[in-house]
Amino acid sequence: MGWVTEHHPTTEELNACVQCGLCLPVCPTFRLTGRETASPRGRLHAMSAVAEGVVEVDETFTSIIDFCLGCRACEPVCPGLVPYGRALEGTRAEIAAQVPGRQSQRSWSVGKALGSRVTMRAAGLGLLVAQALGLTALAPLRYRRVARGLRRLRGRGRPSLGREFGPPDSDRIVGLLAGCIQDEWFRPVNRAALELLEMAGHRVVVPTNQTCCGALAAHDGKAEAAKAYATSNFDAFGGCDVVVATAAGCSAHLAGYEWPGFVSATMDITVTVARDIEAGLLPTLDGSRGKIAIQDPCHLRHAQRVIAEPRLILEAAGYEVVEIDDVGLCCGAAGLYTVLQPEASEQLGIRKADQVRSSGAKMVASANPGCEMQLRSYLRGEVDIRHPIEWYLKAVMEGR
Ligand code: SF4
Ligand code: SF4
Repeated sequence: MGWVTEHHPTTEELNACVQCGLCLPVCPTFRLTGRETASPRGRLHAMSAVAEGVVEVDETFTSIIDFCLGCRACEPVCPGLVPYGRALEGTRAEIAAQVPGRQSQRSWSVGKALGSRVTMRAAGLGLLVAQALGLTALAPLRYRRVARGLRRLRGRGRPSLGREFGPPDSDRIVGLLAGCIQDEWFRPVNRAALELLEMAGHRVVVPTNQTCCGALAAHDGKAEAAKAYATSNFDAFGGCDVVVATAAGCSAHLAGYEWPGFVSATMDITVTVARDIEAGLLPTLDGSRGKIAIQDPCHLRHAQRVIAEPRLILEAAGYEVVEIDDVGLCCGAAGLYTVLQPEASEQLGIRKADQVRSSGAKMVASANPGCEMQLRSYLRGEVDIRHPIEWYLKAVMEGR
């Protein structure tokens, strides 16, 4: 039958692959299995076979695609510049269209729930109660692992939505994407972002009518839902020059929006803060605060090629940055992957946790909530894990 939606991988995207195999050593699923069909090249070959009508979008094809983490480690090393992440999203939209009924629960959660403040608040409240009563320990193993990685929600402070500060006559307005999960479960990260943006003297707004960025929907093949999230955000951020996100997965997705002309840039908060430190708008501190292991989220390192900035922030705060992984292999979190592919996710999570242990650091910096949860889940309280800007703000406050 071939492709049936407008989102499918294009011939140009697929033909960009010259079959060189340079992507194989950096692909986590190929490294776990050694199978060609678990490699970027193999998956692109399977997509081409669908395009040529040689294979169907059936269960076998779906399992090949589902096993991919979407980490995009294959992109920076690719001499053909294959836009693998785009081709993958298009393929997932095809699977959603051609293999109906296999994921109705997921459809509801990524298509509707993440965009609803009421649902996310209710989920946050339910989780807070479950944490207080110790009920998360009773969940099935794959969900228990997720729950184990969460921060304690008690005392997380008020949401960031609706905040507005800075010189009203500023000619540059920064909009903060609060995020669906981020503002409920990782609120201290948004709070740190706001404190630092204020300290640096920016004009900042956090529009109340914004919604989920749509990354999880797009990664799950819900292209229309992802587009609807984007359209709502275009309205919400009207008047902003720059839109900043505090989760690497969100900032990577925002960078792929076709924004109306008023938004001149989208940025991960690590880029904004690093630039403010370099410009002298935020301080560089004296003193030594000990070893901190750095974990690079795939959507920062591979999708946005942001590597130097989190390190600059930590070093400016006086930490000794310890590298744990030269190639930045995925930690196995990858959105819903933890729940949908628990064995592969576990192998990658254990590997990453071992790398942190070997570093000897008791502090870890990670700029993405999913990675933070995966690390906490497998390190079980052995280390303190926070976003790089939280570590920076902590040092600034201690230095006052
Ligand atoms: S590195 Fe790029 S061109 Fe080479 S096999 Fe992988 S996807 Fe194809
Ligand atoms: S996105 Fe990650 S898991 Fe998927 S093919 Fe590329 S490197 Fe492998």
